[in-house]
Amino acid sequence: MARVRSHWAWGYEDKFPRDETRAAVAERLAAVFGKLPAGRPLPSLDAAQMPEPRYSPPVELRSMGTTDRHARAVHTYGRGYRDLVRGFNGDFSAAPDWVFYPSEEAHLTALFRFCEKESIAFIPFGGGTSVVGGTEFSANGRFRGTASVDLSKMDKVLDVDMTSRAARIQGGASGPRISEQLNKHGLSLRHFPQSYELSTLGGWIATRAGGHYATLYTHIDDFVESVRMVTPAGVFETRRLPSSGAGPSPERFVLGSEGAFGIITEAWVRVQSRPRWRASASVHFTRFEDAVVAARMLSQSGLFPSNCRLLDPGEAMLHQVATDGTSVLLIAFESADHPVEPWMERALSIATDLGGDGDEPKYTTDVVNSIAPRASSIPAPPMSSAHPPPIDHDIDDAASWKQAFLDAPYLQSALVSLGVVCDTFETACTWDRFAALHEAVTKATDAAMKEACGGGILTCRFTHVYSDGPAPYYTFVAPGRPGAELEQWAKIKAAASDALIANGGTITHHHAVGRLHRPWWEQERSPLFEHALSAAKDKLDPSGILNPGCLLPSKP
Ligand SMILES: Cc1cc2nc3c(=O)[nH]c(=O)nc-3n(C[C@H](O)[C@H](O)[C@H](O)COP(=O)(O)OP(=O)(O)OC[C@H]3O[C@@H](n4cnc5c(N)ncnc54)[C@H](O)[C@@H]3O)c2cc1C
Repeated sequence: MARVRSHWAWGYEDKFPRDETRAAVAERLAAVFGKLPAGRPLPSLDAAQMPEPRYSPPVELRSMGTTDRHARAVHTYGRGYRDLVRGFNGDFSAAPDWVFYPSEEAHLTALFRFCEKESIAFIPFGGGTSVVGGTEFSANGRFRGTASVDLSKMDKVLDVDMTSRAARIQGGASGPRISEQLNKHGLSLRHFPQSYELSTLGGWIATRAGGHYATLYTHIDDFVESVRMVTPAGVFETRRLPSSGAGPSPERFVLGSEGAFGIITEAWVRVQSRPRWRASASVHFTRFEDAVVAARMLSQSGLFPSNCRLLDPGEAMLHQVATDGTSVLLIAFESADHPVEPWMERALSIATDLGGDGDEPKYTTDVVNSIAPRASSIPAPPMSSAHPPPIDHDIDDAASWKQAFLDAPYLQSALVSLGVVCDTFETACTWDRFAALHEAVTKATDAAMKEACGGGILTCRFTHVYSDGPAPYYTFVAPGRPGAELEQWAKIKAAASDALIANGGTITHHHAVGRLHRPWWEQERSPLFEHALSAAKDKLDPSGILNPGCLLPSKP
């Protein structure tokens, strides 16, 4: 039976935390914040408020679309904190009038022509996991309606080039769909954002998503060999090349385009043999500052660990990795080609020389290597029973961290149902600026939580590290006042974002710009760059129907 997506929360209805779990979470939080509001009943779709559809598409488009209430609710928002709260409250005032499910490029072209003619906003929808309002649009002004265009029917691995180790994959393929199909070839994309369960290749490319690798292949950018984007003005396709110095990179133009320039229907991506040798270890530091230096030294060592995730004491506690007030550096290496002990030993010696206390590292070796890729075509070899499981889903070897990481999105929805204000924000900055940025962000966020909520908890981890700087990721959790949660959240979000920009950070390392981050991105980028982007948009989308207001201001 097909699993049903929650109309308001993260993920699937069958995985939403049970009442007992929600009660246990409430009890834990009550111990920190004092009394918490009791869990409210979960919302029903029947109570959802949404306007009637405002237009009726021609018959040839109707067969690929729907006005079903559940579909419209699922496609109204992404899955950021604001989205969850509005969904929980039954506010679906921004629901798209129609949801369309194209299965080929010709369908997209037909939808472009209809939307241009009828002044309908065309909103590309991958997995709908945006946390920045990337898939949300309230039609007004020159738009008389909204079409959410869900790409989930374009979800195939179309081609595998075993020689160059690359695969051609459709833009609507979700993380599990990609793994399922590539694993048959003994291959893996090895791009695992936390939203992997639902998010899609097209969405990753459109938002320059960050995966689980802490170094080297951090963004999806590093895996993209070429892309195909269908625009109202025609097809924009780039040549398959390992690299090129011919002018500005056309792939880089599509990466981060956030559905404002066209629909990414396909991409050739670099894939890998599934790793056979793995090593993981954790190193505890009494002082966070020493752990930061260790992370920097590792990022500059040339060892390129697959994981180099630094958790501050609050983060380590939250994920049950350490409860003794230490900061923890999780280190991992993986390879499909060779044992990784020497790399781990050197990494541990760097970290322990800086005052860290390292656990005994864990080494594992798969009995059968996934494949030594030689052949050059589909179909894949049959799966043997010795093959690894079909969903290649390993984030790292620190088991409790991994489980907490994957469950976190469900937990956030549960917290929303308990009236808690809880969100994450992330950035990147150079190492020389990190201490000042961290101090300023902590101060500003703590002050805003105190003012808006009477207090709260802020934690920090590094998700990615570069030789010239880290990507810090912050989580805040604070008690909400019933009915005022969105206002409280907005104050905290604004204070944190202002501090990021004022202290040399970026408004986002991998959560994208969307509509939510645009005011801060505008402070970060040069005005001339915006003019150049707007000119490009005018060329590709002359009527301005594509995702208006996302990335760039909507055309008047
Ligand atoms: C719980 C949670 C965890 C997350 N973890 C991570 C993480 O680890 N790393 C990370 O980078 N992000 C993360 N995100 C953010 C989000 O998952 C990413 O931005 C992701 O790349 C979005 O993919 P999607 O398929 O869901 O796209 P959507 O949310 O559907 O769309 C995102 C944007 O891309 C556009 N778009 C989507 N598909 C296409 C297409 N085929 N062509 C053109 N435009 C398109 C949309 O119009 C929109 O502007 C997380 C979000 C949540 C809620």
